[in-house]
Amino acid sequence: MADRDGKIWMDGQMLDWRDAKIHVLTHTLHYGCGAFEGLRAYDTVNGTAIFRLQEHTERLFNSAKILRMQIPFTHDEVHAAQLAVVRANKLQSCYLRPLTWIGSQKLGVSPKGNQIHLMVAAWAWGAYLGEEGLQRGIRVKTSSYTRHHVNITLTQAKAVSNYTNSILANMEALDDGYDEALLLDSCGFVSEGAGENIFIVKKGVIYTPDLSAGALNGITRDTVFHIARDLGLDIVPKRITRDEVYIADEAFFTGTAAEVTPIRELDRIGIGSGSRGPITEKIQSAFFDIVNGRNPKYAHWLSKV
Ligand code: PMP
Repeated sequence: MADRDGKIWMDGQMLDWRDAKIHVLTHTLHYGCGAFEGLRAYDTVNGTAIFRLQEHTERLFNSAKILRMQIPFTHDEVHAAQLAVVRANKLQSCYLRPLTWIGSQKLGVSPKGNQIHLMVAAWAWGAYLGEEGLQRGIRVKTSSYTRHHVNITLTQAKAVSNYTNSILANMEALDDGYDEALLLDSCGFVSEGAGENIFIVKKGVIYTPDLSAGALNGITRDTVFHIARDLGLDIVPKRITRDEVYIADEAFFTGTAAEVTPIRELDRIGIGSGSRGPITEKIQSAFFDIVNGRNPKYAHWLSKV
């Protein structure tokens, strides 16, 4: 990943990919306090555009605020940097990764006196859980790892440190032959996937865990709320138990990387018909229309590169 052609925006400069480096005494590398975003640019009917750039940038600044980090750039500068990176790498569609971290001026738990840095990289990235997963659905395992309690590293920040929990859950699921993990909160209620929000469908109504279960406030999750309303479907955030997922008619994951991915199995129990359900398919199709610029109602969610 590190040794390739291309450009990475770092602290206000567009650097060659290979030169975008940091020191081994970087505070965030030692203690994990940093925040990042994941966005996608799509090759839409009106050219390349970043999906929900404003909302992702806002979440990056909010994550930094929660972590008491002051990003030394304005929202406009961070927008411009993201658009510039897609342009500089001549990408028609891609995944974008902005990351803010604490520098290497001084080590010790207190980050005071350290510089806050920001970088944006972008690269081509296909379906996160596989093309087949988007069509047929994926197999998921309830993790033996608990999702973060809301008062540990704070779950509304897309914090670097929160992802050790995601990595452990994802590795365990893959080692056990599944495609992804589902994590429960510290009370045993359904929280989210290792990198996705979850939805279930029961008797035509869509349910998703409310954010008190420690799930990230996903931007794709919010997009699904809009889609459901447009389709005249009820969507209800609530506490969800693991067995409610087993007996749901349909289930799916959402995320910038995962997009809208059906879940066909949890813990070897088939969900509904054991394949992509009809409501999931409708939502997925509406989602791809929006991100590809085929729904004028949401044209304002696409920032043209
Ligand atoms: N939860 C977690 C833990 C994630 O990493 C992600 C991906 N950012 C999501 C949910 C979904 O968020 P979004 O739709 O904003 O990508």
